Amino acid sequence: MAKVLVTGGAGYIGSVCTEYLLEHGYEVTVFDALITGHRSAVDPRAEFIYGDLADREKIIDVCRNGKFDAVMHFAAFSLVGESMVDPSKYFRNNLGSAINLADAAVAGGVKNFVFSSTAATFGQPEKVPIAEYDRQVPINPYGESKLCFEKVLKWYHEIHGINYAALRYFNAAGASELHGEDHRPESHLIPIILQTAAGKRDCLKLFGDDYDTPDGSCIRDYIHVWDLAQAHELALHAPESGHYNLGTGNGLSVFEIIKAAEAVTGKKIPFEIAPRRPGDPARLIACSDRARKELKWTPQYESAEKIVESAWKWRQKFPEGYAD
Ligand code: UDP
Repeated sequence: MAKVLVTGGAGYIGSVCTEYLLEHGYEVTVFDALITGHRSAVDPRAEFIYGDLADREKIIDVCRNGKFDAVMHFAAFSLVGESMVDPSKYFRNNLGSAINLADAAVAGGVKNFVFSSTAATFGQPEKVPIAEYDRQVPINPYGESKLCFEKVLKWYHEIHGINYAALRYFNAAGASELHGEDHRPESHLIPIILQTAAGKRDCLKLFGDDYDTPDGSCIRDYIHVWDLAQAHELALHAPESGHYNLGTGNGLSVFEIIKAAEAVTGKKIPFEIAPRRPGDPARLIACSDRARKELKWTPQYESAEKIVESAWKWRQKFPEGYAD
């Protein structure tokens, strides 16, 4: 049975990916510092190691002893706004600690490395949909820290022979049966809309209705987290190392997401127009042809309703989110 080390397996995407791997016959070890993740989000079928990737000796020991076939690296900070205030935090963790992990993978003879990258590496795109080799000019330290680590992996591939896939998610959304999105504080659109539907917030602040888009609100490519998990598993069998953009290719505006949420929940979502959020590009839409062709990736949740419905079901099952 193949053995995978999942860093950040207590976080949103890492916990869903852990569940996916376990259901597909993998043995999983989760390594997490529980800074933003939740202990109860770690699937009980996985081994759990509490630790911070900043602890270089520790992660090297874990990889030397673990006999892992692959590492999936999710552990990172991911708030654009915070990165604009405290870039050091982002470069130390998303780059410095990630290098510790890459070195540990080399020391432990791990062959495959799947990295959780982001559409934020592209900055303000020159065109949409965005393809893998379009220009990457991040407009915040978060995106830059992820882009730097993509480059580290390219060199570790050339020099140490490690196979890698950098998966650039667009807007991860939705939930599995067991795991969903629970950030504290919450800053993401769909959970905030659903908290509003559940009466836990008075209204959504809609950041800008004067963008150059048909309805004036920002357009994003929302991709279901289970579909992302599928791509991670497929990336273990990628024909060659490289980068893949992961999205549906279908851009949805904030107003369209509100409409989908009203249809799914049967509730009116009150909102008020607020100023633009700094660093928000008007449109981010992925061209995922490469992943579909080379990884044989076939996303299952291609509509806003299906994505929002899964998140709503999880919210109803766990109204307060995770217990810890
Ligand atoms: N958004 C919003 N109000 C919120 C949160 C988000 O209007 O309270 C908008 C945001 O400006 C962006 C979209 O919703 O256009 C998705 O934002 P999110 O933070 O979920 O993801 P991001 O695109 O920043 O990765």
